[in-house]
Amino acid sequence: MTNSKPVVYTPPPEHPHLAATDTGLLEAVARGHARLTPDQGLDLLRAAPLHTLGRWADARARTLHGDNFRTYIIDRNINYTNVCTAKCTFCAFRRDADDHDAYTLPTETIHQKIAELSDIGGTQILMQGGMNPDLPLDYYLNLLHSIKSRFPHIHIHAFSPPEFVEFVHFFNPPGSTFEAKVRWMMAKLKEAGLDSLPGGGGEIFATPVRRKIGLGKCDAESWLTCMYVAHSLGMFTSATMMFGHIEGHADRIHHMKLVREWQDRAIKEFGAGVEDPATGRVTPGGHYKAFISWPFQRENTPLGRVKDWGSNPGELDAEFPGDIVAREFAWGKNDEVDYRDLGPGAAEFGRRVRMAGATEYLRTQAASRLMLDNIYSIGSSWVTMGPHVGQVGLMYGASDMGSVMMEENVVSSAGTTYCLNEAVLCRLIRDAGFTPAQRNNTYDILRTHAGAESPDLQVTDWSKHRAKKLHIEAPRQPKAAPSSPAQVTVSIER
Ligand code: SF4
Repeated sequence: MTNSKPVVYTPPPEHPHLAATDTGLLEAVARGHARLTPDQGLDLLRAAPLHTLGRWADARARTLHGDNFRTYIIDRNINYTNVCTAKCTFCAFRRDADDHDAYTLPTETIHQKIAELSDIGGTQILMQGGMNPDLPLDYYLNLLHSIKSRFPHIHIHAFSPPEFVEFVHFFNPPGSTFEAKVRWMMAKLKEAGLDSLPGGGGEIFATPVRRKIGLGKCDAESWLTCMYVAHSLGMFTSATMMFGHIEGHADRIHHMKLVREWQDRAIKEFGAGVEDPATGRVTPGGHYKAFISWPFQRENTPLGRVKDWGSNPGELDAEFPGDIVAREFAWGKNDEVDYRDLGPGAAEFGRRVRMAGATEYLRTQAASRLMLDNIYSIGSSWVTMGPHVGQVGLMYGASDMGSVMMEENVVSSAGTTYCLNEAVLCRLIRDAGFTPAQRNNTYDILRTHAGAESPDLQVTDWSKHRAKKLHIEAPRQPKAAPSSPAQVTVSIER
């Protein structure tokens, strides 16, 4: 996919009178000829049989991506600092500046990590950190300049919207509006070498949830505005969602709805898409290239200490507090809903978590494929769910297996990291019935692995790969600053 001139883009029509499980509706959605309403998306997420969801999400993925290739990328996650002004309750990564294990990576260390990435054929760094008030603007400008001059072939995918919002607070750039200030800041970093923005910090957009879990982190409007500015500057981004905690099911659909609406806006205003010469139809690649969702990982986090829903007798017979609040939130129409006025059930909002297992993960991912008709790729989050659930995810709407990377510091802080190398990742894709293909940041395919030279087809002794420890529990003690990695691991955007 490449960016193109502005296009006449009309989103597919909605058919609100049809039931969510209407076969004709789902066939049209799979072909890209109809759009689900939020109510239909919610009905599917909550009640459709798991395999029905998977079948239609898979059909949609095959319409967009064909039956042949499923992709992955080789990049490296570099968390340049763990000092952060926010105190998100789901985060085990952040530190205060005076904590003994607070760190900010020197430029030379970051260069060393990129050199190691380049040596294994990597094409991108995913660089994110905490929101560190002690770093001057020159730290970022010099860092980007130095990376681009030493590694011009490496794509810099860096600084998620919450970081940009804090850049505005820290550096007070010129501009009379928030958007203007973000634009100044982003243009400056782009000029220094920034190529695109990762979709981290999305979590759940719904205001009541965000206020509870994202303490000190930007609101949804600011997050979406940052991405809008990035799109206006010609950068591609992704969007993410972290679910399976205090939110209601409707909050997940509301989150997807907002991403879809802002993608519509970006496509209309800035263009993006490829026209099929046979039909004249534009396939909307859009400026949000991908959507990646994953369940909350609870280890070592304040939110993880909250009781599970159902831990009190009879609790499961009642409606989950997050669902009560989400219903009152009414797809964002009641943005200032005060859950304390909603009766005793809602009073437990934020005091119970409803963790998501494998089937809930697959349901949510499949629903995202069906809801997000204008997003090109859905990523399988096998880093949190494990390689084999991730592999099954390729049958539930995912078309991308994420990144072969060299270290991970954020998800592993919260308890779960699965480690795979390129050969295993390719084998997972091939065993699912597809040909693995290495992609770049804009989802252009760089190499396909059909022949004998493919990384997985070169392996003669899989026992070495099977012997690898795949599930690593994070240490209870805070981690020291990451140094050179001992093994190749895989990570996700956050
Ligand atoms: S999730 Fe990000 S913004 Fe929130 S506390 Fe952790 S490092 Fe800071």
